[in-house]
Amino acid sequence: MSPEEEQPYIVCEDLFKIYKIADLEVVALRGLDLTVQKAEFMAIVGASGSGKSTLLNILAGLDQPSAGRAFVGGRDLLTMTASEMVDYRRKQVGFVWQQTGRNLVPYLDALQNVEVPLILSGVTKKAATARSRELLDAVGLSHRLHSSPSMLSGGEQQRVSIAVALANDPPLLLADEPTGELDSIGAAAVFDLFSNLNRRYKVTVIIVTHDPAIAARVDRVVAIRDGRTSTEIFRRTAVDGNTTRIVHDEYVLVDTAGRLQIPREYLQSLDIGGRAKVALAGSHVEIRPEPRRHQEER
Ligand code: ADP
Ligand code: MG
Repeated sequence: MSPEEEQPYIVCEDLFKIYKIADLEVVALRGLDLTVQKAEFMAIVGASGSGKSTLLNILAGLDQPSAGRAFVGGRDLLTMTASEMVDYRRKQVGFVWQQTGRNLVPYLDALQNVEVPLILSGVTKKAATARSRELLDAVGLSHRLHSSPSMLSGGEQQRVSIAVALANDPPLLLADEPTGELDSIGAAAVFDLFSNLNRRYKVTVIIVTHDPAIAARVDRVVAIRDGRTSTEIFRRTAVDGNTTRIVHDEYVLVDTAGRLQIPREYLQSLDIGGRAKVALAGSHVEIRPEPRRHQEER
């Protein structure tokens, strides 16, 4: 293994993104930690406004972080110059937006849509057509080469968008709520496609989604809360005698400073707020409500 392969493909440490609008500052990411291995197939979930798109835009090279560390394939996203960012966006990442209209040129057919990024990066027309046919075949649309987006269903449009995103053979594929405008059947087909492409091309795939069904489909789901990663769910296969079943293990993430997020339901049911007692209890740690606070309320 080369030293580069030993490193996780993506490393974010204590990442911050602050948007300034006039005098107002919005902290979209507040000390986010995330590592992603090469060729992983993972999802990011979280409430609206939790920072999912901000993170994805940073990983896509569409936006720069305010502070912290962010590396993709050994490239430092905080120190990249504008021209390095352009090159990074073109060769290192493919991006799929939620709005099908944002991914495709309406007056070009499917084949031409996939050819565009290839021709822009200097590939000959002949080679672009061959590659475009191959990709549309990989996404199951070889019978739709000459259909324009308006002639395709939402799910088919997203499959063309995925082919466009993969045109330049990027090692990283990012999708921001790619099934947000699809029905459940269309969404399932798109998730299956991401899974197939991940295995076939060894492309690292990160999908941001609201769809709770995602956990059964990806290797790992990371939840973001208030601009920080909060929990992680891994999928594994458990064997009981001669039956196997899929098990999901959920973990709370603990950062290097020891911070973790206690699930909101637990805080509410024990009335923990502001302060708590922490004690080491042999093999585990106990967190209790502050005693005084409880007495006052009784
Ligand atoms: P999500 O994708 O999880 O819904 P976002 O990453 O879009 O969340 O947004 C996180 C926070 O940052 C929100 O409070 C949002 O209003 C704010 N935000 C996102 N983009 C911008 C922007 N371009 N300018 C100002 N604030 C922004
Ligand atoms: Mg979003």
